[in-house]
Amino acid sequence: MSKKAVRGTLLDCIADPWLAGDERKAVRYLPDGVLVWQDGLIIAIGPADEVLRAHPDVNPEDYSGELIVPGFVDVHLHYAQTRIIGSFGRQLLEWLQIFTFPEELKFRDKSYADEVAGLFFEVLLACGTTTVQSFATTHPNSVTAFFEEAERLGIQALCGLTGIDREGTAPDAYRDTPESFYEGSKELIERYHGRGRCIYSISPRFAFGSTTEQLRMAGKLASEHPDLPIQTHLSENPAEIESVLEFFPDCGDYLEVYEKHGLVRPRFVAGHSIYLSEDEFRRLGEKGASVAFCPASNLFLGSGFFQWDRANHYGVRWGLGCDSGGGNTLSLLRTLDDGYKVGMLQVVTSDREKCEESLRLSAIKALYAATLGSARSLYLENQIGNLEVGKAADFVVLDTGASRVLDERRGSDRPRTSLEAACHQFFGLMMLYVPDVVKATYSSGNRLFDRNNR
Ligand SMILES: [Zn+2]
Repeated sequence: MSKKAVRGTLLDCIADPWLAGDERKAVRYLPDGVLVWQDGLIIAIGPADEVLRAHPDVNPEDYSGELIVPGFVDVHLHYAQTRIIGSFGRQLLEWLQIFTFPEELKFRDKSYADEVAGLFFEVLLACGTTTVQSFATTHPNSVTAFFEEAERLGIQALCGLTGIDREGTAPDAYRDTPESFYEGSKELIERYHGRGRCIYSISPRFAFGSTTEQLRMAGKLASEHPDLPIQTHLSENPAEIESVLEFFPDCGDYLEVYEKHGLVRPRFVAGHSIYLSEDEFRRLGEKGASVAFCPASNLFLGSGFFQWDRANHYGVRWGLGCDSGGGNTLSLLRTLDDGYKVGMLQVVTSDREKCEESLRLSAIKALYAATLGSARSLYLENQIGNLEVGKAADFVVLDTGASRVLDERRGSDRPRTSLEAACHQFFGLMMLYVPDVVKATYSSGNRLFDRNNR
């Protein structure tokens, strides 16, 4: 395949800004940069004049004046809830019964699942997300539909059959069994894991909904497939936590339920993790496990505030998730808006003043969370997360003047003026998000979303 390229202001994270001392050292900023790729992989990045001299055969797509950042990496959401997003007035457990399970039941039907999978990826790409880890439903059709569409698009996608078998926690017609969860997962792993850019995630929904037998089956899958990711939920809501401790009286805390079943290891990604003790954070860090910060969902469902400074303290990898439909958006830029506010509220209310700087979600920290940080939480940082040579050409072109307000706020302070200007504009896109900010989304170098051809 011939080489392709784009030209614009390139901004990506090359290190963890929380660890960099001066966070500006954690980014690469190329005011007039060119990115070249071939066969879906990046082969060059640098100042335009240098790269064009070295690659005289490329004719870059011109996005001069626009901000180009790595594609966003969403580590936690539920594609099957795309049609019930923004449902009013309930916290987690009631919200699941009233809105979620009735909708997810429809995914027994393959054509329904196909329809929603198509819609979901279309919206996701329009939000600039190029990697996604999603839950499905208890029905194999829901996973098949997801992976078929992901493979057709060539997008990096993780998903798995989502087990829930405990009586009384979901409608009988929705629940699976430990055996059907195991057998179904096994079949889907063989069929889809490693096909295109598809990765299978072992997905027991949460300890609230799974019996010991089902979690044992999840553990069996995990030991048979030591490299597979595992996704679930952890300590999202006080009522949920209380029930989990009643269901598993032999466990001292929520995390121990997953530990006992052999699930907590590298590539284990626990959604939310809001009410964790110091000891739970410490064990997550020691085991190389990850958590998903889902601020849009945590605010929308009134769940609580995740404390990333504590995760950082124990070296716990964490990524960002919109957690649609618990989150009222599929956009990680909008999710960062809520993430920023979650941090600011803790600056005000916490007695942990020394953490103030860590809790202020600057543009650079936010960009890291949505890209390289999320990639690290999935252990995919060697393939995605920034614009390094050798990684997938997954990136998004952002229009920093997409609305009247953004344009006025920007003035003549274009991203190419300075790193500070680029950061100021990126922060503006988070806080004043409108759908038009995403101009184009590229996955493996293919432009899968183009604002001009909607
Ligand atoms: Zn979730």
